[in-house]
Amino acid sequence: MIVTVKCTRSSAFRLSVAAGVAVPLLLAAGPVEALQVPTPDASQTSWLARSVLAATSQLPTAAAGQQKPMVNPVVYVTSPWFGQVRYIGINYGCNKLPYYPPDSRCPGHQGFHHGVDIAMPTGTPITSAVAGRVVLGGLGTAYGSRAFRIRTANRDIVLGHVSRVLVRSGQRVKPGDVVAYSGALGAPDGAHLHFEVRPVGGAYTQAKNPMAQLRAQVVAIR
Ligand SMILES: [Zn+2]
Repeated sequence: MIVTVKCTRSSAFRLSVAAGVAVPLLLAAGPVEALQVPTPDASQTSWLARSVLAATSQLPTAAAGQQKPMVNPVVYVTSPWFGQVRYIGINYGCNKLPYYPPDSRCPGHQGFHHGVDIAMPTGTPITSAVAGRVVLGGLGTAYGSRAFRIRTANRDIVLGHVSRVLVRSGQRVKPGDVVAYSGALGAPDGAHLHFEVRPVGGAYTQAKNPMAQLRAQVVAIR
């Protein structure tokens, strides 16, 4: 049985957790405490959402392309963008990984990751979950030589590190269209999809938390 809860802090970020799965609750102090997931009522919803978000914000530094994560816990998610169950390798926001320069938004000289990285083997089909227009090029080398954007009415969705692009610049896509295959181009840490959301025409420094557009559903936390 899947218990789906609504995150009260991020209205469009839907979370679901398999009932009975132990959710590791990571607190700022560091200790990990395994808790059984109750069937959430209204008062528990925000707690469950907070604990899952806390877990994802302190995700392991395991290379995103590895099939066996190095550090637990790992959040496994599904999304209409890739269909199958994959784990989040690097979350959006501040982190201590060496790939990102220090950012003024982050404490302790930490860097800022402008998207979310979902581990998946090279060649995984990427399916658009939105209607939009394809914008090729102009993203720089960090995203890989074939990274591109899907531009909707009010945002750009960046698909990074892809190995093959199946659409042309200017092409209109609709939900369900396979637009690319994932890969490791430009990625220092193995094959994964870098999923990023910006304002239309915006720079990476303007990237927003992409989880709402990813429409990820948490399948399990191990
Ligand atoms: Zn990334």
